[in-house]
Amino acid sequence: MNSQRTDYLLPLEGTSITALPKISLHDHLDGGLRPSTILEIASEIGLETPAGDPESLQAWFDESCDSGDLVDYLKTFDLTIAVMQTPDHLARIAREFVQDLGADGVIYGEIRWAPEQHLTKGLSLDEVVEAVQSGLEAGVEDVRATGQNIRVGQLVSAMRHLDRGLEIAELAVRHRDRGVVGFDIAGPENGFPPSNLKAAFDYLAREYMPRTVHAGEAAGLASIESALFDGRAMRLGHGVRIAEDITLEREDEESSFVALGPIAQWVKDREIALETSPSSNLQTGTIAQWGDEMIDHPFDLLYQLGFNVTVNTDNRLMSNTTLSRELAVLAETFGYDLADLEVFQLNAAAAAFLSIEDREDLTTQILQGFGRS
Ligand SMILES: [Zn+2]
Repeated sequence: MNSQRTDYLLPLEGTSITALPKISLHDHLDGGLRPSTILEIASEIGLETPAGDPESLQAWFDESCDSGDLVDYLKTFDLTIAVMQTPDHLARIAREFVQDLGADGVIYGEIRWAPEQHLTKGLSLDEVVEAVQSGLEAGVEDVRATGQNIRVGQLVSAMRHLDRGLEIAELAVRHRDRGVVGFDIAGPENGFPPSNLKAAFDYLAREYMPRTVHAGEAAGLASIESALFDGRAMRLGHGVRIAEDITLEREDEESSFVALGPIAQWVKDREIALETSPSSNLQTGTIAQWGDEMIDHPFDLLYQLGFNVTVNTDNRLMSNTTLSRELAVLAETFGYDLADLEVFQLNAAAAAFLSIEDREDLTTQILQGFGRS
């Protein structure tokens, strides 16, 4: 195994966040490659890369993704997806992905990706899902061989601007007993509401297949509403812009009160998990209306108001991050302690697309890892 472990410590307690058991619900396979692997596969297939060594390539990702230009950000996926077009390459990348989650102390990960983007060499949708599954299973074995426990599941995403939603939904259901735990839609949110994929979501509901929907990231409340109504979303991918439905009113110096609109009230009361990804949300302009620094992120407002917040990485390569680092950044910014971080993990355990027994098992592991039992 070649994954490196970086320890992130809680500012107050000095606890290693990396060593704590964690759950990763929003983690893109094509956004979590190792730079060294990209270079090796690119040289094998004769693909030109913007840099020749892993450090320079990571710097290119950092620069492209920090530019504030969504087009530059998305362009980086052309490179990662280009090296993920054969069964061997898909399996290798999936395997390393799980090794890296294990090195970061993740005990359960849901790994999302869009099979329809990996067919340029003539593979079928079923073949690419099977290739990724074989890699994930090998990665799980590798992590377990180190004495650590990990479990993973695939979320298959349909690209919202393309017309294969129902086909991808059927693919998800076909593989539900062989590694796929749920369905997602990804790609451009603006102008491509979940209602466009109504047939897919109706089918998934009839099949009792869990659904999460990217919403409230690049678009606002109307997109979240369509995710809830048309997508019957059980979780929201980011969902950060639900904060647009929250009004803070200051009465005087001493007191202020908060008013929730109907969508925010529903998301809160029904405990619909928000898959927030702090660094990514900053890079893609999701929180632009509130500011451009972590302290401006509505994460803390949502948490304090009792929303079901979870913490995620979105794209570890593009944001040069890990789940432990995202938690460390939040702890540093908002003064969170071990008990807060535990809440985020318990929220994620409860929101995982697993059976109630398996979710309770994750909860037990988290309580033990955080020293509660
Ligand atoms: Zn995402």
